[in-house]
Amino acid sequence: MTKTLMSIATWAILGWLAGLWLGAATGWGVFSVGLLIMVLVSGVQLSQISRWVKNINAPPPPSVGPWDEILAPIYRTLKRYRSDQARLHDTLGSVMAAVEALPDGTVLLNADMELVWCNQTASNHLGLNTLTDRHHNIINIFRVPEFARYVRQEEWPSPLLIHTHYNGNTRALLINMTRYGPEDFLLVTRDVTQIEKLETMRRDFIANVSHELRTPLTVLAGFLETLDETPADAVSDEQRAHYLNLMREQANRMQAIISDLLTLSTLESQPQGDGEPLNMTDIIRASLDQARALSAGRHEFKTDIDANLHITGMANELTSAISNLINNAVHYTPPPGTITVEWKRKPDGTALFAVTDTGIGVATKDIPRLTERFYRVDHSRSRATGGTGLGLAITRHVALRHDGELKVDSRLGAGSRFSIVFPARRIVAGLPDASDA
Ligand code: ADP
Repeated sequence: MTKTLMSIATWAILGWLAGLWLGAATGWGVFSVGLLIMVLVSGVQLSQISRWVKNINAPPPPSVGPWDEILAPIYRTLKRYRSDQARLHDTLGSVMAAVEALPDGTVLLNADMELVWCNQTASNHLGLNTLTDRHHNIINIFRVPEFARYVRQEEWPSPLLIHTHYNGNTRALLINMTRYGPEDFLLVTRDVTQIEKLETMRRDFIANVSHELRTPLTVLAGFLETLDETPADAVSDEQRAHYLNLMREQANRMQAIISDLLTLSTLESQPQGDGEPLNMTDIIRASLDQARALSAGRHEFKTDIDANLHITGMANELTSAISNLINNAVHYTPPPGTITVEWKRKPDGTALFAVTDTGIGVATKDIPRLTERFYRVDHSRSRATGGTGLGLAITRHVALRHDGELKVDSRLGAGSRFSIVFPARRIVAGLPDASDA
């Protein structure tokens, strides 16, 4: 403004001097020409400015006379705004990346419960499509009646647990809704399928343990009550011995269950280690001796044992797994059956322990469940042999802790083969005292 006034004043003085010297008309002429030049220069400058406005990210034109004073602060503010915007963009980018990386689903909804934005996890959980579902009511996209009722609530003091189906599986979703602005809502979804499964397993396990212990305890309490209520002279020594024998049996059963439970819990809680080089022949032979005693000559035993094959491992764990498999063969093979125990190196370099019997076998549908805790195909048969229903669960655990795998091949009525394959890297060479079984 000052520059413009000064230019006008300069032309006015020039016009006045010219008027003094060459007459008033010339003076007015000079002044008018001056103003015309000023208007023309201004026009050129304005067209430069209008070109710059179209490309506002470029620096303003270098010299536009009086406009310099106006353009410079505008350009400075623009530059600051642009760098603020870039910083904001970066922050927003990293916040969005963090929300995307969340294991939980996040959905933003507007006042009409329409989808504004959601992360990938939420779109997996609720089957949302960020491109086509935007600005559609969430209730119409994820059509589950209890979800619709939950979203329509005024307040959401507790989360909602729902079960959805996808690819033939059921998924448990925990949904939590909150208001985060006057008209903005946040929906968080969490997949709790695994947690729910573990919780069910824990509940089932406690129910099973209680059930398993309740039966022998009830029997034991019954006998104690009988003995307590019957006068001493009314019970013969023979009867008393019989009762005591039955009570001992029940106590032994409880002891066996508790001992197997403790073994399982130790296996689960102890860190897996490599163990030490073991003389496997000795371990197998000791288990075979026990099994022969259990069979009392009612079965034929065959062995195919490589006395020079040894692995690293935990002796007590492997002893328990091996005797469990051989004892099971005795329990579930009606005499006169054959039990074959193999311990050898396979052509692929792995080590195989296998027990094959000609016993009652297992139906194909039951095979996958054999390693479940307390699962028995025939409860009374297992009970009659003093079984706890935990042996194969322990054996499977031991196999896994030795990087091996428990395999079951069986045919109902024809016999079974239980085997554990240990990886080649567990095999050790040359142990002293190895001899043929
Ligand atoms: P249990 O103490 O009942 O023997 P296990 O966990 O060792 O428990 O075995 C689970 C179930 O698997 C047994 O109850 C039995 O039904 C079946 N089973 C195990 N070994 C054999 C086998 N060699 N032949 C047939 N069935 C078997």
